[in-house]
Amino acid sequence: MMKGRMINEILQLGAAHALYFHQGNWYHHLKRFPGVLIDSGGYLWFETKEKFANSKDIKIKERVNIYGGISSKKGYIKFSAEQLLKIEEEICSTDEEVALRKLRTTNLVLRNIGLAQKLKETYNYRCQICGNQIPIGTNNYYAEVHHIKPLGKPHNGPDVLENMICVCPNCHVLLDYNAIFLSQHSILSKHKIKKEFVDYHNSQLKAKKT
Ligand SMILES: [Zn+2]
Repeated sequence: MMKGRMINEILQLGAAHALYFHQGNWYHHLKRFPGVLIDSGGYLWFETKEKFANSKDIKIKERVNIYGGISSKKGYIKFSAEQLLKIEEEICSTDEEVALRKLRTTNLVLRNIGLAQKLKETYNYRCQICGNQIPIGTNNYYAEVHHIKPLGKPHNGPDVLENMICVCPNCHVLLDYNAIFLSQHSILSKHKIKKEFVDYHNSQLKAKKT
C-alpha cells in the first residue's frame, strides 16, 4: 500500500512499516516495527511486534480486522489540521495543480500590486472575458488579474498593463491552464493589450494541444 508509506514519509512518523486504509478497519499484516496503521484522519502506532500481536483491539487473522476502525481505539492519534493539509498537498494534488500553484506563487512574488489594483478599478471588477462581476458585499466586488504572458521563468512576461487583464476566478483558471484562446476582439477592452502577449498565450495553447 503506497499511501501508507507516503504519509509516513511526508509526516516523518518514523515507522518501519506503514499501512493505509481510508476507513481504518482492515489492513494487511504489519511486518516491521515500529509499525503504524493509518486511516483518513489519523493513525495508531505499534512500537513492537508483541504490542501489535497482543493488542486486544485488533483481530489478526489472514488480515488485520479492527472492529469500529482504528479511530475508535485507545492511543489513536488524530492528524492536526496542518498535517492534513500537508498530506492533501503532497498526495492529492495532480501535477497540473502543482504547476498552477507554482505559477501563481511566482506571480504573487513578482507582481506590482498597485498596477493590478488600477486595472481592476478600470473595469469595475468586471471580467474582461465573460463579463461577470462578483459581488462580495455592498459596492464591493472580487476580481483577479491575469498576466497574459506569465511572469517568471520560463515565460518572463513583463509586469505591465499591456500584459494584464482583469478576470473572474473561472476565466483565470482557464487562462492559466491554457484552456481557452484569447482574442482581443471578443473581450471587454478599455486599455491597450499588446498583441505580442496575446499571441504568446495562444501559441502556448497550440503547443499544448499537439
Ligand atoms: Zn470570467
